[in-house]
Parts: sequence; structure tokens; C-alpha cells
Amino acid sequence: MRRQDLHIHSTFSDGRMAPDEIADRARSESFSAGLADHCLFYGPKTDEAFQEYMDAVKASGLYLGLEIDLGRPVDLPSFIVRELDYIIGSVHHFALDTGQVLFSPYFKARRFGTPYQFPKELGDPRESLNAIADLVVARLETDPVDILGHATVLPSCVILGDEQAFYRDWKARIIRAAVDNGVAVEISGLWKAPHREFLEMAVEAGAHFAIGSDAHDEKGLFDIEYPVRMVEELGIPESRLFVPRGREPRVRR
Ligand SMILES: [Zn+2]
Ligand SMILES: [Zn+2]
Repeated sequence: MRRQDLHIHSTFSDGRMAPDEIADRARSESFSAGLADHCLFYGPKTDEAFQEYMDAVKASGLYLGLEIDLGRPVDLPSFIVRELDYIIGSVHHFALDTGQVLFSPYFKARRFGTPYQFPKELGDPRESLNAIADLVVARLETDPVDILGHATVLPSCVILGDEQAFYRDWKARIIRAAVDNGVAVEISGLWKAPHREFLEMAVEAGAHFAIGSDAHDEKGLFDIEYPVRMVEELGIPESRLFVPRGREPRVRR
């Protein structure tokens, strides 16, 4: 199976390793690897900063990716969009009339096993899931997203638990939006997500898949135990794995 890790954060956003250090490890461990730094609170936001990011990643020999937040509109400079090998879109916050709900406290709690309270502003956990599905479906239709990042890692899990929270219709909708728009579904090493049932449905629906550790440090780098296990157990063929646009033909477009 391909040794691939397309979701890595560097010192250009909230990661601890510089692109060159990551590239060195990729070479020594024969990984095909790409950076997908945030461009939200951390990460490049100005033209100069995007240019600097792009130059550093290209010089390192890693794939040039970016992780955008589907929870808010992004305005990427066209010079970087042209050069990117892929864009990962994932939901990091949710905008309400009353303000924005950030998901980072949930991510942190899930990552480190610390307590977390479902944000009251989100209202009913199931209804908020539907609103998030509306958002994801709309953004996958309009935005240049190649990979749907950690699709099921959402605060509603805390209250409902994976299997209940992500009832079949919800999963089917998200998967359909990915398949119809030629967007690969990420299987995440850090989050061990999406869960098996979701992935089974995605296989059935004809989805493509991308493998990423979502590493922020040395320890998480290339931790793709869960994605590899899912690919093997579900018999996902090599031809259904996402290929960055840089060197080989892409999944779509
Ligand atoms: Zn993310
Ligand atoms: Zn990430």
C-alpha cells in the first residue's frame, strides 16, 4: 500500500516541525508527504505570507497543500490556488446569527481526552448536525476543495456518540456531496475518523479516499495506522486513493 501522508501541519501554522524537517523524515521513511497548513488564525493570510509558505514547501520537495475552514468563506490569492497540489476542506467553526462557534476547544478536548461541554449556542445536537451538512454540501459545490478533512469530527459526538449522532441519512448526504463533486474523503490518523460504517458507505457510493495523519508534531507524523487498517479491511483499491495534482493525474477535473 502507498505510504502517503497528505495532512501535516508545519511551523507555518500550528505545527512544531519546519517543512525541511518533515521532508527529511519523508525521505528517510519513504513517505509521499504533503503539508496542509491552516490559513485561519494560524497560518498564512497575506499575499506575502502565502508566497513565503509556497516557496518553503516547494523548496522542501513536499506536496503543497492547504487546509481551509468550510465554516467561513476563504479568499485565497489566485497565484497559490494555481500552484497548490490539493486543498483540504474541513469544518473548524460554525457561524450563527448570534456569532461564531469555534470547534477548536472540542478538537483539543478530543485529542487530549479532557472534558468538553457541547456549546449551548449550537442548540440541538442533531439539528446542528443537519446545519453542518447543509454547509458542507454547499461549500463542496462551490469551493475548489479536493479532500474533505475529518468529516465526522464534530462537537455533536460528545453528546450523541458517533454511531447515533451520524445517522445514516446524514452520512449518505455528506458522502453523496463528496462523490458528486469529485472530492476525496479523508481517513484521519489523528482522529481515527470517519468511523468504519461511514467508510463502508463511502466505499459503496464510489468515493475516493485520502490518507492523512493531521500531525502537528514529530510523534504524530506519518501516524497512519488507522487509515491503513481501514484501507486494508475495507479492501479499498489503490485506484481509489487520492493523487495530488502535482505529479500524476488527479482524481477529477
Ligand atoms: Zn482540521
Ligand atoms: Zn489539520
